[in-house]
Amino acid sequence: MAEHYKPFKYMPWEMSLEERFQEYHPAYSEREAVVEANRCLFCHDAPCMVACPTTIDIPTFIRKISTGNVKGSARTILESNLLGATCSRVCPVEVLCEGDCVLAHDHKPIAIGRLQRYAMDYAAERNIEFFQKGEPNGFKVAVVGAGPAGLSCSGELAKRGFDVTCFEKREWGGGLDTYGIVVFREPVEVSLNEVKMIEKLGVTIKTNVEIGKDITFEQLVDEFDAVFVSVGLGAVPEMQIPGEDLEGVLDGLEFIEETKVRPLNDIKYGDRVCVIGAGNTGIDCATIARRLGSERVNMIYRRSEAEMPAYHFEYQFALKEGVSFMFLTQPVEVIGEGGKVKALKCRRMDLGEPDASGRRAPVEVPGSDFEIPCDMVITAIGQKKHSHITEKLAKFGIKTVKGYIAVDEKTNRTDHPKIYAGGDCVRSHGEASTVMAVEDGKIAANGIHRALCGEGVKAELLPTHASKR
Ligand SMILES: Cc1cc2nc3c(=O)[nH]c(=O)nc-3n(C[C@H](O)[C@H](O)[C@H](O)COP(=O)(O)OP(=O)(O)OC[C@H]3O[C@@H](n4cnc5c(N)ncnc54)[C@H](O)[C@@H]3O)c2cc1C
Ligand code: SF4
Repeated sequence: MAEHYKPFKYMPWEMSLEERFQEYHPAYSEREAVVEANRCLFCHDAPCMVACPTTIDIPTFIRKISTGNVKGSARTILESNLLGATCSRVCPVEVLCEGDCVLAHDHKPIAIGRLQRYAMDYAAERNIEFFQKGEPNGFKVAVVGAGPAGLSCSGELAKRGFDVTCFEKREWGGGLDTYGIVVFREPVEVSLNEVKMIEKLGVTIKTNVEIGKDITFEQLVDEFDAVFVSVGLGAVPEMQIPGEDLEGVLDGLEFIEETKVRPLNDIKYGDRVCVIGAGNTGIDCATIARRLGSERVNMIYRRSEAEMPAYHFEYQFALKEGVSFMFLTQPVEVIGEGGKVKALKCRRMDLGEPDASGRRAPVEVPGSDFEIPCDMVITAIGQKKHSHITEKLAKFGIKTVKGYIAVDEKTNRTDHPKIYAGGDCVRSHGEASTVMAVEDGKIAANGIHRALCGEGVKAELLPTHASKR
């Protein structure tokens, strides 16, 4: 397994909060980067590159680091992935490029993520601008949502001369990279720098504008030649158990966001915390609580260890951070006293036959209720779909799959000829990640470019996995 995290075996309470929330890995020095780059075999038909959803030419960017051409290395990365700085930090490299590195089995895989970060930091520290806005081609495109999918699509189109306006309902662009990814994995500034880079390409980003409320989808379709919808997903759904409204029950996404937008000293945390759900978001909430100072953090999951959705390396990381796991446990009520959380009532579960997801369904064990004393409950049981948006899009004849926007996967076009979509709002199956959202933005940019400028543009298009299908 690649060493992606640096867990604290014992929580170092003597460290300041700021130190506990610093990026896991210190940046590579020049020497460290060159030594690591020189371990690469520069494979022909490199499996690491095939495993990268954005098809970054990994052997080439690593070779450039090894020869001292770090600027060229950064260009190679950004040519395939405009959000290379974020992806170098947040990508689950263990299951993507590093997992498929030929050295993964016998030796240690090349630290592709850290090398990519080295090249990206080099370019950012020197304010190097690699691309300019393309010669105007007369077409206008609206992008809804400035998360990774929206930024990637906007930037790729601007490079080719499209006049792009990106509408974002929040104060800052970057989507979950800015608001949702734990600060010790990605500092907010890295994401905001990428937003700036996209603006420098000539993209107009209009923040605090919600499409569907401040401007209608009809207006966008009338005014623009194409529309790309990249609205992501919504808040954590309600658990629908008694006591959810008590003080001390928090939405996991809001809890993480606090650590990104507020001084760490101002953030409230419980001494004994129960995190409900065992996905990657739950793990983030649990490790944040530990690093803030919570003494006991229990993750509660109704299925078993084998079914938990978190990556194995995330699970291991949480264990090393002192987080406890309670499997086959279903919360049934949040118990309060004086309006505040006092305990979480749970029921033991067993595993029955596989359900629609293919995983064995949890079945209640009668008479097995018990209470876990706690003063904070954090919910991390997924994200709601934006049904208010899919309802509006249905008026354009756009269909959904399990509540996600349905698209043609080669172009990311919906059932409406002018409307495209990508990112988490279309990901009806498989893992959702930043790098996949970036790739979706590229696929849509290619689709829009081809639809508006004709098949003749094919040669100029960026390689994507979709274009290879
Ligand atoms: C807690 C958490 C941690 C994660 N950690 C990782 C990780 O470590 N690595 C990884 O690869 N992936 C991670 N992911 C997944 C990754 O963040 C997402 O897959 C990715 O951000 C999806 O990009 P997106 O552009 O589709 O959506 P988002 O990032 O959600 O962006 C959507 C944007 O659209 C805006 N918007 C929504 N509705 C409207 C509207 N009507 N009008 C205008 N704007 C609108 C939103 O405000 C938002 O800015 C994590 C996800 C979560 C929830
Ligand atoms: S698979 Fe590993 S060794 Fe081969 S090019 Fe990729 S990083 Fe280098």
